[in-house]
Parts: sequence; C-alpha cells; structure tokens
Amino acid sequence: MSRREILQRVLSSDSLPTLPTVAAKLLSITSDEETTVREIAELISHDMSLSAKVLRVVNSSFYSLSSKVGNIQQAVTILGIQAVRSLVLSFSLLNLTRTPCRGFNHKIFWERSLASAVSARLIMGYLDESQREEAFVAGLLQNIGEMILAIEFPEDCERIRAMIDQGCEEMLAEQRVLGVDHAVLGQAIARKWGFPSSLVTPIAYHHKPQSYLSGNEAADRLNKVVHVSYLMAGIFYSDRPEVYHRRFVVESKKLLGLDPTLVDDIASRVHTEVNRVAGYFGMQVNIEHSVEEILQEANTRLAQINMTYEQMNRELTEAKMELHRLTRELQEKNRRLEALVNLDGLTGVYNHRYFQSTLRKEISRARRHAHPLSLIMADVDHFKGFNDHHGHQVGDFILREMCQVMTRVLREYDLIARYGGEEFAVVLPETDLDAALNVAEKIRLEVAESRFEQDGKTYQVALSLGVATLSPDDRATTSDELIGQADQALLQAKRKGRNRVLAFGEKNRWLDRIWPG
Ligand code: GH3
Ligand code: MG
Ligand code: MG
Repeated sequence: MSRREILQRVLSSDSLPTLPTVAAKLLSITSDEETTVREIAELISHDMSLSAKVLRVVNSSFYSLSSKVGNIQQAVTILGIQAVRSLVLSFSLLNLTRTPCRGFNHKIFWERSLASAVSARLIMGYLDESQREEAFVAGLLQNIGEMILAIEFPEDCERIRAMIDQGCEEMLAEQRVLGVDHAVLGQAIARKWGFPSSLVTPIAYHHKPQSYLSGNEAADRLNKVVHVSYLMAGIFYSDRPEVYHRRFVVESKKLLGLDPTLVDDIASRVHTEVNRVAGYFGMQVNIEHSVEEILQEANTRLAQINMTYEQMNRELTEAKMELHRLTRELQEKNRRLEALVNLDGLTGVYNHRYFQSTLRKEISRARRHAHPLSLIMADVDHFKGFNDHHGHQVGDFILREMCQVMTRVLREYDLIARYGGEEFAVVLPETDLDAALNVAEKIRLEVAESRFEQDGKTYQVALSLGVATLSPDDRATTSDELIGQADQALLQAKRKGRNRVLAFGEKNRWLDRIWPG
C-alpha cells in the first residue's frame, strides 16, 4: 500500500474512533471568529456531565483561580475560549480509551500522554503564559497517531514494536513497516476531526520540531515544547529514564533555551501534578517514585548491568584460559598417544610398523645425500630354551632390560625397533659397513656381558647379529631387500655358532668373539 492509500484507508475506516459531538461542534464553532462566548458556553452546558467535569478542573488547583467559577460562561470569560476548548478536547479524547487493541496498552498510553500534557503546560509556563492551555492539549494528543496505528494495523504494530525492541528508532520502524509514521497519521486524523491548525502542527512536528520552517514563532515554540514534554514523560514512563532525562536536559536547552537548573524543578512538579491532574480528568494515575528515585534506580540498575558484564567478562576469560589449558593438555596427550602408537608395548623401543616406514625414509634420504646406510638385525640366541627354563615372565623382563642396554650403545639418530618376537632391527643412518660392524659388535658385547638381575637371580643372554649396508651409490636395493640381506647375515651368524656378528656379502667379514668369551 502506498502512503496515500494507507491514509485513505485509515480515514475511511469504521473502526476509527469518532470525536464526541460536543467536542466536534465546539471545534467547528470556535474556528469561526464570529462565535460568541455565550454560544460556546451553551454548547458545552448541553452536556451536563461534561460541564461538571470542566467546572471541576476550572475550580481546581490546576488553574488556582482566586474566586470560584460557577458556570461555563464564566469559565470561558475568565480562562478564554482556547483554554476551555482544550479542556473539552482533553476530556473527549481521554474518553476514547475504550477501543481494545492487542498489544496496545491504552492506560499506559494515556498516562504517558497526560504526563506529556502536564509537562508541556509547565514548560510553556516558563516561556509564554498565553500558550499554556494549547501546550497541554497538544502535549496530550501528540501521539494520537500511535493509537490509530494500533487500532488499524495491529499486526504491523507488533512488527514495529519488535523492531523498536531491537533498537530501531520508533519513527523509522513505522516508516519501514507501514510507509507512514504516527506523526503523519496523527496529522491526518487531527485534520479529519477538525482540530485547529495550532493543534495539528505540533502533532505533525512533535518528533522533529526543527523541520518546521513556516516561521510562525508561536507554532514553532509549541512544537518544541511538545517535543521535549514527551522526553520528560519518558523519565516516568520508559525503561530507560536516564536516557530521557539526559535528552531532556540537552534538548530543552538547545531548542528552548531552558536553563538546565530548572530541569529538576520541572521534573518534580510534573511528578506531583500528574497524579493530581489525572484525578481531575477521572483517571487513576499513581507515579510512585520521584525523579530522583527513578534516576537513582536507573543508576543502580546500570551499575548492576556493568557488574554483571564485568562478572561475565571475568568468567569468559577464565573459561578461555581453561580452554587453552585443556587444548594444551590435549595436544600433549595427542603427542604422547602418537608416540605410543609407534612404540612397542613390551620393550618401549619402536615397533615394526614404525621401523618399516623409517627405513624407507632413511633409504631415500641416504640416496638423496649420497650417504651410506646400515641395518642390523639382532636375534636372541636360544631364547626358546631360556623361556622354557626360566619362564615367560623372566623372558619378558630380559627383552625389556636388553633393549635398554642396546639403546645406550646407540647414537641419538639411530633407531632401534622390535622386529618381532625376540628379534630387533637397528637402523644406522650415515653409517658405512665398518662403523656398523663396530656398533653391532658393541651391542653384542654389552648384551653378552650384562648380568640381568631379578628377584635375587642373575640371568645372561646372547645375541646374534647380521649387518647389511647400502653403499652411497646404490640406487636399486629396496628396504625389503636390505632387510633380507641383514637377515641372511643373521642366519649365517646363527649357523656359525651364534653370539656373533656377521656382515652380508662379505665372506669372513664377521666378528668372532664367541660368548661366554
Ligand atoms: P635361535 O638361537 O635359533 O634364535 O633360537 P630361539 O629359541 O631363540 O629361536 P626360536 O625362533 O625357535 O624361538 C624364539 C623364542 O622366542 C620363542 C618364543 O617363546 C620367544 N619369544 C618370542 N617373543 C617373546 C616374548 O615377547 N616374550 C618372551 N618371554 N619370549 C618370546
Ligand atoms: Mg632366537
Ligand atoms: Mg627368533
């Protein structure tokens, strides 16, 4: 729907509240300059209950007149046509609160409007006494468009409210959802009801009084007063009183030159007057807390929010630190697990799988750098017999201890792995045959000379070792072939009598120091 269509729909809607007859007639005759005080008084007096209400307010402290006013004609004479018209309009519109609408709280709406009206009247009192009554009714009706919007577009209203809750500015939300805002709607309805232009203008401009550029000083002042009156009402009727308070101080100074020292005075007078004035208009309003109390509460709430924020921040930091700690722990565990995956469970040296992959890597590295590489295969002699004699448990113990002995002999970058059973493999990078034979012999000797002690008993074992070497210029031999060669040498060592070292392919190239020596 276009903006024009929306306005048309609203203005011709059946659900639109109608202005009570007296109010409507009053508006039309007061716009005629020929109308006499008597005619106005007669019109109002026709409605007995309305007259009684008007006289009650006229004689209340709202006007603080020195003598009692007995009838409407007197009231009109003393207060002026505008003041009485404002009163009649206020009564008539405050009666429109019946139309129910989902999500729209009429009571709060009119209470806040009344607080705006009282504020506007008070503020105008500092600027131009003659505009006070107009300020009251304009303050009261500035947001009439909001009510119309809620009645005509309840669904859109919910969407608008949701957007406002998420921080969208009210007018912007209305424009986005509906294409018109409540100021435009209010203006249209006020025109339809025949409101005087002095009332239509502040309804249209109450959100942005600076955009009123017609040069009418009184109208400009009224727009601005009505605008700040709503900010004042926000101190009492919003969940962010401190924001409205700050805006009121700033904007009333900027727009109206209001001395900021007056702000507290105005606020406390609004507080006491709203409750009283509501009574005159037959409304039950009870603003319990004074502005100081409201702002104090807001302060405390803000401090609490800050505190919970700090608390949350602290907890978040702690959680983050805990997460870091857990991550490190997990990394460490993973690292250990990864290492474990490569180790042999019984002896703690590398396992068969890791040996195979390392040997392949070392072979290609040796080729890349033209280095020799040697491999030793070592097997415990007569271990079956050892187990049979001493038991498997002792056999396990020997395998563990023997691995420690062998590891001590090796360099840091040599690798020892359990090939299977009681057979071990040692990879010696950058090691030629002679050096490898020396290492193998050293292993053999250390193991043969070791005395393994457990439960007061001493055990001895011996190893046979076969050595195979990949020369720097060898491009062909695979890891399986190298293992095969070392195995053959080992087999030869067994055949030759065990507890000895033999090299592959080199006849008589074996170190023959037979255990027990
Ligand atoms: P050889 O000198 O020819 O190698 O004789 P051997 O008895 O050592 O050879 P064989 O292959 O016949 O027997 C290997 C023995 O090693 C048999 C098995 O009980 C023992 N063995 C293999 N793995 C383990 C182990 O994890 N723990 C223990 N206690 N014994 C093992
Ligand atoms: Mg054996
Ligand atoms: Mg064996």
